Amino acid sequence: MRDIWDLVVVGGGPAGSAAALRAKQLRPRARVLLLDKADFPRDKACGDGIAAHGGDELALLGVPDLIADYRPTDRLSVISPGGARVLATVARPNRVVPREVFDARLVDAARARGVEVRRHRVRAIAARKDHVVVDDRLATRTLVAADGANSTVRRLAGIPAGPERHTAIAVRGYADVPVDDDVQFIAMQQEGWPAYAWSFPIGDGTANIGFGMLLPSLRATGLPGRQVLHGRLAELLPDLPARRLKAHHLPLSPGRPKPGTGRVLLAGDAAGLVNPLTGEGIYYALLSGRLAGEAAVEAVGDPLGAYRRTLRGALGAHLLTTDVLARAAQSPRFIDAAIDVAARRGEVFDLLVEVGLGAGTVPLPLALAVVGRWLRGGPPASAGVRRRG
Ligand SMILES: Cc1cc2nc3c(=O)[nH]c(=O)nc-3n(C[C@H](O)[C@H](O)[C@H](O)COP(=O)(O)OP(=O)(O)OC[C@H]3O[C@@H](n4cnc5c(N)ncnc54)[C@H](O)[C@@H]3O)c2cc1C
Repeated sequence: MRDIWDLVVVGGGPAGSAAALRAKQLRPRARVLLLDKADFPRDKACGDGIAAHGGDELALLGVPDLIADYRPTDRLSVISPGGARVLATVARPNRVVPREVFDARLVDAARARGVEVRRHRVRAIAARKDHVVVDDRLATRTLVAADGANSTVRRLAGIPAGPERHTAIAVRGYADVPVDDDVQFIAMQQEGWPAYAWSFPIGDGTANIGFGMLLPSLRATGLPGRQVLHGRLAELLPDLPARRLKAHHLPLSPGRPKPGTGRVLLAGDAAGLVNPLTGEGIYYALLSGRLAGEAAVEAVGDPLGAYRRTLRGALGAHLLTTDVLARAAQSPRFIDAAIDVAARRGEVFDLLVEVGLGAGTVPLPLALAVVGRWLRGGPPASAGVRRRG
C-alpha cells in the first residue's frame, strides 16, 4: 500500500474540517487527507445558526475571523408550546451563515493549511492491526468519520445508528425579511410536541426559516413528510413564504455517544452529537472534530482512548444533562415552565441558552425553580413579551 496517511477524514462538514485543521495545526508535517463525496461549495439543510460557542471553536482552530463578516445577532425570542414568551438579549451573540459559505470556507482553510482535499465517496473500510484501509487504496493510522447523520463509515465500522426515538427531521428554507430584522425567533408547537419553527435572519434581507419535529411524531401523522413539514412551517410562519426547501435527519444525542471503534473515530452528526433540546449540532461538530484530529496526531498508539477521554471531559456532563432535560421536555408543560421562569429570571434565560447551544449543565437550585413552576402548573405568567438587557 503506497498511499499511507497519518489521518484520513471522511466528510468536509464542520466536524471533518475541524479534525483536519486541528491535526495540521498541531503537527504541520502530518499527512492529512480530507475526502468528501461533494465538491465545495455545497448546500446542507441546516438552520445556519452558529452559536457563540462555535465561534470559540473557530478561534481554537486558528481561524478566528472565518465568519467575522457576518452580522452578530444577540436578540432571541422564544414562544413555548403553551404560549409563555421571552424576548431577551443573549450573553454572547450568535451568527447566521449559510452552510454553502461556512463549510466551503472551512474546507478552504484546511486546504490552505496543507490538508489534501479530494472529491471521493467512501464505500468500504477494512481494519488492520495498526491502520485502516479505505476503499482498498488508501491506508491511514486514524480514520475520522465525519460523514454526517447517515454516516456510511459508522455503518461500515459496525456501529448502529441511534434509535428512531432519538431522531428528528427538519426542513429549512430561505425567506425575505427586513434588513434590520435581527431577532432570532423560535415558535414551539404543542401539536406533535416536541416541534418548533424558527426564523434566523442573516442580516442581508433574508432569513433561514424552518420547522423540525421528532421522526416518530411525523410518522404518527400518517401523512407524507413533505406535506407535514412544509405545512407546519407555513402555519407557524405565515408571513414568510419559503424558497429552497430542503429536509434532513438530525441524530439527537442519547446522552452517552459511542465515539468509535478501533482506529475509527466518529465526530459530529456521525457520532449523534446533536443537542436533543434545540437541534444544535455545529458547535458539537467543531468541538468533536477538533478533539478527534488532536487524538489522531497526539495519541497515535491509541487515538480512540484519547478521544473518548477528551470528549467525555468536554461534553460528558452536558450530554447527560441534555438527555435528562429532553426526557422532562417530553411534557410541553415543563418547557412552558422553563420559558416562563426564564422570562422573569435572567440567569435562567442565560442558563437555558448555555444548555441549548453550548456545553452548559444545570445547577440544582435553578433546576428546582423550573421544576417548582412546572409542578404548580397554571397559565404562563409571561404571556406578554418581556425584554431584558
Ligand atoms: C434542517 C436542519 C436545521 C439545523 N439547524 C442547525 C442550526 O441552526 N445550528 C446548528 O448548530 N445545527 C443545526 N443543525 C444540525 C447541523 O446541521 C449538523 O449538526 C451539522 O451539519 C453536523 O456537521 P457534520 O460535519 O457532522 O456533518 P455534515 O455537515 O452533514 O457533513 C457531512 C459531510 O460528509 C460528506 N459525506 C457523507 N457521506 C460521505 C461518504 N460516504 N464519503 C465521503 N463524504 C461523505 C457529505 O457530503 C458532507 O459534506 C440542523 C440540521 C438540520 C437538518
